[in-house]
Amino acid sequence: MIFSGQILKMSSQLAEPIQYFLNLNDDLISMNQIFGKELRIKHIGYQCVNCGSDEKIYRMGFCKKCFFESPYASDTIIRPELSTAHLGIAERDLEVEKSIQLVPHVVYLSYTGDVKVGVTRETQVPTRWIDQGATFALPIARTENRYEAGMIEVELKQHIADKTNYKKMLMSEFESDLDLKEFRDKISEYFPKDFKQFASDEEDIVKLDYPYTAPGKVNVFTLDKQPEFTGILKGIKGQYLQFEGDYFINVRGHEGYVIELEIK
Ligand SMILES: [Zn+2]
Repeated sequence: MIFSGQILKMSSQLAEPIQYFLNLNDDLISMNQIFGKELRIKHIGYQCVNCGSDEKIYRMGFCKKCFFESPYASDTIIRPELSTAHLGIAERDLEVEKSIQLVPHVVYLSYTGDVKVGVTRETQVPTRWIDQGATFALPIARTENRYEAGMIEVELKQHIADKTNYKKMLMSEFESDLDLKEFRDKISEYFPKDFKQFASDEEDIVKLDYPYTAPGKVNVFTLDKQPEFTGILKGIKGQYLQFEGDYFINVRGHEGYVIELEIK
């Protein structure tokens, strides 16, 4: 069977294990059902996720123009503490920024090979955690907007990681005795006093179970360096497809790439 279309990050369903779906040009491919099959992936073009242009993808699925102009690619996406929509101040497009920033947000701890702190919109839970390949997650604050969540994160990340090391994430085994509540208590002294009213201490740890076995080593390939790849799909963690021979591709890192996908 041959499919083709623009890569978007896989959608997922929280289950044991997590179920993944790749949407290629309206064909929804259940990835869990093709484990053990040989796939051939061929890069055939580009399609910007914002404007549809076939220019080379610059970053995050956007062509260069959209990356520097679209409100969906603005600095506050990466750095929530810079948010200004709550002050009525536009960065690129106030209406879009209001819709992204002036909604409930969650500050969380997650385990991706290291314990890290992060921020996401409430509606992105648990998707955000699944996308980053976290095996555990624990909300530690719930805020009314993105700015407040960003201010809490910016304080806490001086004491705890805020980035995922993808190799560690892919190599880490399931650790059943990790207690994120202990970490929350340990860093509580650094929780900014001005935002204390948003702290949330009664949350449950969420466990995330991937269709995945940690490999002995990690070889990540990209379609830039290797425009055609054939391999047997073994598992998925985060947004990474795992192939036989410990080869990996980051699906999210290829948003906007147009591919042909053959399932043999
Ligand atoms: Zn574009």
